[in-house]
Amino acid sequence: MKKVLILHTGGTIGMMPTERGYAPVKGYFETALEDIRDLKFPEMPQWDFMEMEVLLDSSNMTVEEWNEIGEIIYDKYHEYDGFVVLHGTDTMAYTASALSFMLENLGKPVVFTGSQIPMCCVRSDARDNLITSLTIAADGVVNEVCLYFGGKLHRGNRATKFSADKLIAFHSFNAPYLAEADIDIKYNLSALRKPCTDDLRLRKLDRVPIGVLKIFPGIQLDLFESMMTERLRGVVIETFGAGNIPGGGDELIPIIRKALAHGTVITVCSQCPQGSVSLGTYETSSGLKNAGAVCGWDMTTEAAVAKLYYLFSCGYTADMVKVKMEEDIAGELTVR
Ligand code: ASP
Repeated sequence: MKKVLILHTGGTIGMMPTERGYAPVKGYFETALEDIRDLKFPEMPQWDFMEMEVLLDSSNMTVEEWNEIGEIIYDKYHEYDGFVVLHGTDTMAYTASALSFMLENLGKPVVFTGSQIPMCCVRSDARDNLITSLTIAADGVVNEVCLYFGGKLHRGNRATKFSADKLIAFHSFNAPYLAEADIDIKYNLSALRKPCTDDLRLRKLDRVPIGVLKIFPGIQLDLFESMMTERLRGVVIETFGAGNIPGGGDELIPIIRKALAHGTVITVCSQCPQGSVSLGTYETSSGLKNAGAVCGWDMTTEAAVAKLYYLFSCGYTADMVKVKMEEDIAGELTVR
């Protein structure tokens, strides 16, 4: 019989109402699991449950918790056929992206899931998300970090939370679903990554100083100049459309020049969830291209942030980070 580890990190799925709003409650979720009949059906895998020391609203997740999740999966890798990570939806796409890089040579399913309505409330989406995630983790068809929510299985580093209140809260704007769960779970076999038979390695992440800057019309970029110190190793710029910024022509705005002079890796992503950055298509992105900014292609901001943490934690020089940011490592971008 297949065996799956359910790792509870926090999030709405196991939250309860408190005087200050919904918050995670230690010990509650394990008892709630006992009331789910489906989990005892013979077609369900055997599962163990484990709870993080401190349960978090995922807004409070940091690199430290990503490392903890990675360590638990790494330590228990040979004991289980797959893993289900219960996580808050707000930053689930960041954590799933980070783990997709950190768990090198992964050859088993690691399925992130959660819910929009807590398990303790009526009409909760927790049960289906949990039961289907467990099934996917036991099936072993997918051998990568993925995210199951609202009937769809996404590659973890391609998903984005796009809705604060819909039960289908995630979408992969630039990649196909890995599976769709209707009456049957239909895997999209041609979209899956090949299983890796090498030994699993865990790359833990450092608290690398990085930033995200979203461009808007009339942005007074000089206000952000103090942010561009030598300490800042990488920045993701969320630009307009295909990579455009105000004053992005030959006359590069001083803030960008300063960052590049400091050796900060500037990665250009788009504010459009669908489509790809293409530096140099417009005059307003040519300066970025000529100055050596990295093209983030069709990567999500979540994946770009996680990838910067990962590559700097690997010890690469800024020049190597620039090269690798444009290459596909874990299915996070479409190779041109
Ligand atoms: N604030 C919650 C969290 O991300 C939202 C959720 O889980 O849906 O932990």
